Amino acid sequence: MAEEATTANPVSDCLFCKILAGEVPATVVRETDRTLAFRDINPQAPTHVLVIPKEHHPNAAALAAADPELTAYLLRECGEVARAEGVADSGYRIVFNTGSGAGQTVFHVHAHVLGGRGFGWPPG
Ligand code: C5P
Repeated sequence: MAEEATTANPVSDCLFCKILAGEVPATVVRETDRTLAFRDINPQAPTHVLVIPKEHHPNAAALAAADPELTAYLLRECGEVARAEGVADSGYRIVFNTGSGAGQTVFHVHAHVLGGRGFGWPPG
């Protein structure tokens, strides 16, 4: 599936643009014309899926400023992933690490959809 994904504005050194281009493998769980969802390679919960827009935006705030409609679409896709993964009823967490100080390591906006276990608050 990922091989067919395209991004309108790929960034050459962006890992997730490379996944969209099929240059880096990923375990895709859901794809639409605007988004791709794939399993995190270092899962932090029984369900840990990353949901990304096919358009490159560096973080959630930049995406929301540039395209509120796509932001809402991305969030809706997170809900669809949670439902498909069977964690919607038990509860799940959507995380956007924003900035390196908050733990962001890939600067192509991605929602972490985490579920299948309990979560503490405050987050670590
Ligand atoms: O929020 P942050 O930028 O740290 O999240 C990036 C995530 O991308 C990490 O959870 C990491 O495990 C994941 N990743 C991945 N596939 C890769 C490289 C990183 O799922 N090829």
